[in-house]
Amino acid sequence: MITRTHTRPVTVGNLTIGGADQIIIQSMTNTRTKDVEATLKQINRLKAAGCQLVRMAILDEEDAKAVAKIKASSPLPLVADIHFNPNNALTAIENGIDKIRLNPGNLPLNSVQTIADAAKKRHIPIRIGINSGSLEKDLLAKYGKPTAQAMIESAWHHVDILRQCDFEDIVLSFKSSDVGLTIESYELAANTFPYPLHLGVTEAGTLLGSAIKSCAALGTLIHEGIGDTIRVSVSADPVEEMKVAKPLLSAFGLYTGVVNLIACPTCGRIQYDMLPIVNEIEDYVNTINADITVAIMGCPVNGPQEASRADIGVAGGKDSALLFKHGQIIETIPQDQIVVRLKSEIDALVASKQSN
Ligand code: SF4
Repeated sequence: MITRTHTRPVTVGNLTIGGADQIIIQSMTNTRTKDVEATLKQINRLKAAGCQLVRMAILDEEDAKAVAKIKASSPLPLVADIHFNPNNALTAIENGIDKIRLNPGNLPLNSVQTIADAAKKRHIPIRIGINSGSLEKDLLAKYGKPTAQAMIESAWHHVDILRQCDFEDIVLSFKSSDVGLTIESYELAANTFPYPLHLGVTEAGTLLGSAIKSCAALGTLIHEGIGDTIRVSVSADPVEEMKVAKPLLSAFGLYTGVVNLIACPTCGRIQYDMLPIVNEIEDYVNTINADITVAIMGCPVNGPQEASRADIGVAGGKDSALLFKHGQIIETIPQDQIVVRLKSEIDALVASKQSN
């Protein structure tokens, strides 16, 4: 049982971030934002895969103006990622953005005040993103290297500027590619600031590497009740991030609609070709939103018990598998029909759950 840390809630489109609300899954498009069609296509794919909030890079005025068209058709609330141009932030706000990501210390104070006033008028929060790879030079000199204390001190600098502008709808992130530093920084932040925390390990690498680093860091923090949104950064199509983010939250009971796929590692006892079946069924269930358990097991030694505990399961035999449904043996399926049969059984179960 996880006790979530209570943070000061903010509104992002139809979502609440913070309080003790659900943890939101977010991602970032890698299209040119001004390419409205490509960006919307990717946002729709992210939504279908389970993403709940999406950030877009705003590099120039054209990107900022494109927000209006994207917003008109986007199924997800939108975040504008702004770096050094305050006008882009204002244009994005005027065009309907739901949240801004910028670091106020990078902009002149009068520009921050104008942005803060515009954001406040429309109830748009601002995320301050502290990154261990771009800490201020004076902090690096003071601490000698990126440390959790240095990251917190950097955050204070930016937070104080927003507070001077009478702006409190703040979200914070403390990203690093180092798992230990990520955990330590967020733990310290949770004890320091009242604001919601966006969790992420940055530059985490390809799917497997990122899954390991993100689950180690974010899993530890989520278990401690820390975190209001997450992003699993993967060097790939952003839709791939959902393959890690959803099961991670689901493992803590914080996300529903993920198919629990159980599969044995196989060993010398196996007498059918199981691994291609697991791969194909994994791809298939990744497209399905349902709380069901599917087991694919190798042999009669451990297979029947595990398969019979799942909603749908198979336990391998000689060039075949026994099909189980809700604990009952249904029939023996020949090797070449296992995938098709499993898919149709999954579809039927999902349909029956949806009609109930
Ligand atoms: S279920 Fe059978 S095949 Fe799979 S790992 Fe266990 S003993 Fe080996």
